[in-house]
Amino acid sequence: MRFSVPRYWRERHSYYRLKAAKCLDCGRVTYPYTERCRFCGSSRVVEVELVNEKARLLTYTVIYSAGEGFEDKKPVVIGIVETEESKARLLARITDVDVEELKTGILLEPVLRRINEDGESGLIYYLIAYRPVLKTG
Ligand SMILES: [Zn+2]
Repeated sequence: MRFSVPRYWRERHSYYRLKAAKCLDCGRVTYPYTERCRFCGSSRVVEVELVNEKARLLTYTVIYSAGEGFEDKKPVVIGIVETEESKARLLARITDVDVEELKTGILLEPVLRRINEDGESGLIYYLIAYRPVLKTG
């Protein structure tokens, strides 16, 4: 995963807050934010943030051949999650989990994770990842 520095910098707040578009006509939520609803085409959308919502793991894949810059972090788990309230679906890194304990349907929460560092610019990249909600008691 690699981003151009200007693009990442310009969009960093939407990465951190998971900025999405809620449609005022059909009520569905599109992530990432778009000015037109992905489901019904309406342009009556308002900005919502998904970063305070927990999510369920719908499906996932485990990547054992990690790319450049990720050699020390494999395997990498990428999942499709659905947020609890908005029912928005997004592709996200799943973190802090043993691959053996992964299963669909588990409850996850968003967490800011450092993913990479750009040697030239000195910019450190962060993205929202999802980790399992720890059971208490
Ligand atoms: Zn809509």
